[in-house]
Amino acid sequence: MSAQLTFAAPRRAKPPRHLADLSPDERREAVAALDEKPFRADQLSRHYFGRLVDDPADMTDLPAAVRDRLVAELMPSLLTSVRDQVCDEGMTRKTLWKAFDGTLIESVLMRYPDRVTMCVSSQAGCGMNCPFCATGQAGLTRNLSTAEIVEQVVAGARALARGQIPGGAGRVSNIVFMGMGEPLASFNNVVRAIHRFSDPSPAGLGISQRNITVSTVGLVPAIGRLTDLDLKVRLAVSLHAPDDELRDELVPINTRWKVAEVLDAAWAYADRTRRRVSIEYALIRDINDQAWRADLLGRLIKGHPVHVNLIPLNPTPGSKWTASRPTVQTEFVRHLEAHGVPVTVRDTRGQEIDGACGQLAAMPQEAPLRSQQG
Ligand code: SAH
Repeated sequence: MSAQLTFAAPRRAKPPRHLADLSPDERREAVAALDEKPFRADQLSRHYFGRLVDDPADMTDLPAAVRDRLVAELMPSLLTSVRDQVCDEGMTRKTLWKAFDGTLIESVLMRYPDRVTMCVSSQAGCGMNCPFCATGQAGLTRNLSTAEIVEQVVAGARALARGQIPGGAGRVSNIVFMGMGEPLASFNNVVRAIHRFSDPSPAGLGISQRNITVSTVGLVPAIGRLTDLDLKVRLAVSLHAPDDELRDELVPINTRWKVAEVLDAAWAYADRTRRRVSIEYALIRDINDQAWRADLLGRLIKGHPVHVNLIPLNPTPGSKWTASRPTVQTEFVRHLEAHGVPVTVRDTRGQEIDGACGQLAAMPQEAPLRSQQG
């Protein structure tokens, strides 16, 4: 069986069609098919992407009857907020969303002094089964539609524009596909979402592709397809181990595509896009944090346009693993830097609200997650 088939999401009812699923031309066609003037599509886009309107009553340039019809057909409500959790004095906000079919997903907004990053989900659940990540433990429910991905950011942008996030009115500046799911396993929807994010307003949100990061476990053929699209998004590769023996365990898809193949695909991406690739490496105490592994990693990647992002392991229910000791972490950084590799350690924002990397599990209550092994 091909990898594509193996990782295909289960068949389910499709989310309703939405403006954000469509390119500007497709929107005009959709409006024309409803016997309305094509320019109405541009008006809808301006409301949704430009003015971030969510109440149809505010679309006063559309005659009421036209408005009701177009909103029903092209702007159905896709995600309902079930719960917001905040920390960092409100600067970090995790939202639990319910989709049309009851599926639960999460997104996280993080405000920093100089930027606002939205961490979005591309799938409900995840099929990659990495044992240290909470999302993978319940498996994959389904892919999110393009519009369901876009709506997470539009909702964040709306809250910022309306001054609902402390720090005054603001805008979303960065997007990371680091929420639930493996973005490259839902390739077309994710690529379409990237266009909606980066198309200039009001066709899209006008966020530079350079400020959008796609993080992947390393689906090699899909990295190749992304390379061929010549986008300007940043690619992050979740490596977590420099050797196949350990990576087979930490990132099970490694049994299909090995470390060397993943890195080759990453270098090809960097070469084509002229963008530095990020290597994500969760530091797990006594598992992958040995100085010799830092050296091995350093030897593998030095001389390439790369940057290593170390992520102190965030705790997840049912996992026996924990973050590295501070002294061990410092040594790991030192060994990598000795190879001339740029390294940063990611902050653990959102840990208090289970909103940090690998903690998104979309639990409706605060119930503990059942361990897969248990
Ligand atoms: N499926 C994509 C995006 C998922 S999450 C991917 O794997 O890249 C974004 C990052 O968080 C990934 O690098 C992922 O490996 C990491 N991560 C997952 N669980 C974690 C945990 N418990 N602590 C720290 N990082 C974690």
